[in-house]
Amino acid sequence: MNTVPHWIDGAPAPVGDSLTAPVFNPATGQEQARVALAAPSDVDAAVAAASRAFEAWSESSLSQRTQVLFAFRQLLVEHEEELGRIISAEHGKTVDDARGEITRGREVVEYACGLGDVSKGGFSDQVSRGVDVHNFRQPLGVVAGITPFNFPAMVPLWMHPIAIATGNTFILKPSERDPSAANFVAELYKKAGLPDGVFNVVHGDKTAVDALLTHSGVEAVSFVGSTPIAKYVHEQATSRGKRVQALGGAKNHAVVLPDADLEFAANHITAGAYGSAGERCMAVSVAVAVGDAADGLVEVLKRKAEEVRVGPGDAPGTDMGPLVTAAARKRVESAVAGAAGQGATVVVDGRGVKVEGHEDGFFTGPSLLDHVTAEMDAYKEELFGPVLAVVRVDTLDEAIALINANPYGNGTALFTDSGEAARRFQRAVKVGMIGVNVPVPVPMSYYSFGGWKDSLIGDSPIHGPEGIRFYTRPKVVTTRWPRPAQHVAAGFTFPTSN
Ligand code: NAD
Repeated sequence: MNTVPHWIDGAPAPVGDSLTAPVFNPATGQEQARVALAAPSDVDAAVAAASRAFEAWSESSLSQRTQVLFAFRQLLVEHEEELGRIISAEHGKTVDDARGEITRGREVVEYACGLGDVSKGGFSDQVSRGVDVHNFRQPLGVVAGITPFNFPAMVPLWMHPIAIATGNTFILKPSERDPSAANFVAELYKKAGLPDGVFNVVHGDKTAVDALLTHSGVEAVSFVGSTPIAKYVHEQATSRGKRVQALGGAKNHAVVLPDADLEFAANHITAGAYGSAGERCMAVSVAVAVGDAADGLVEVLKRKAEEVRVGPGDAPGTDMGPLVTAAARKRVESAVAGAAGQGATVVVDGRGVKVEGHEDGFFTGPSLLDHVTAEMDAYKEELFGPVLAVVRVDTLDEAIALINANPYGNGTALFTDSGEAARRFQRAVKVGMIGVNVPVPVPMSYYSFGGWKDSLIGDSPIHGPEGIRFYTRPKVVTTRWPRPAQHVAAGFTFPTSN
């Protein structure tokens, strides 16, 4: 059976006698490969390679780096289908959905291709007589990215193009559940002309993560995953003086006002809730029906949920694939049972769905729960599966209060015809990314991505201008080039401008 190896210093590392873990095909339920699990010595080797590569890469010109990124971007276009199939086979999402994540990740490469513009510093002429000031930013060194299973291409692409563009070298620790996309991307970078050691991949679990968090050669850590691990990573790495960005979990609400077009809203909420089987940090997991929107909304949501075609991610016509593991399916199906036990109405029940020819796959169907309250577990927990909970409230203010009381603050959406309501909503919610009649408001690459509260630990969102800031340190230079006639005695008082 094939074992997915680490990628260190521009080549696959020998697997040797390293520990390995199974990689499943979620559509068949079968183990299809193994993945190497890094020991601390593997992390040491990756950091050593990245440190060596940093010496030359940090001295490379902006145009040299930009050329590599342009070539890499083109290779992502040419290999989109192939990479999409690799992702689908290990994650379970449809090939089209996987292509969508590659496109959104590629947009970060496109942003990084504008490095010359987006990273330039400032200059102030004549701040004092004969004195100018300019600033510029320099790379940090070796930086690490630790990423979740649900976007094996896009989430790492939020990180490494910007880290590499700004002159850093990078070590990716992807999810052990779908590791192959990371190695494929490493090969594309090599083909694009990226020098060996600038982009490395170590696979593994907590042992690999801990080795990165405690390694004195790692300057910064970018993390995306669940909130408890985000808190752990933030605490461990900042206590060792590293710079950290740590994005956590989510519970995203879509509010529907009575003036909204219910067919339109239900259509978009259905896609936002069940797309990628709900395994998106921006998935809609709660529909908040305001006033008399509720009955009509639930009726259309029911119809739409029943229309979702569940099947293997590589079969034409599939809307929704399996969950990533058998454990994930069990968790989601128990949550539906628990909600029923706590008084919710199960309007559509996805439990026990069978896909012909794929009886051992990790499938569950879309579930729609009505009359869910903030006290129920199905509301409180991040289910990360195809379950949409409808909470009924009387007013927009109540909907806003519900969202603001939730510990997460990643994304939210409002469906309405009223500009006034939309403006009030976007100013009042304690959430980082907001959609108005847009269910999954993932910002473009030239804005930054990040939530509030437990959805982002620390203070640094990811990619866009915040990415440039995160992966660089500023310097400010104050300069004087005096002509002999202008020589004046140095004063002993603190320097001020004149
Ligand atoms: P996860 O937290 O289990 O794993 C994320 C990474 O941390 C993986 O690389 C994993 O190997 C590592 N890890 C897991 N347990 C660890 C431990 N005990 N110690 C050290 N490292 C550990 O997350 P997941 O299940 O892969 O992904 C789903 C989660 O990610 C959801 O909570 C989802 O909301 C979140 N997510 C958030 C965003 C965002 O932008 N905020 C984006 C995508 C996913």
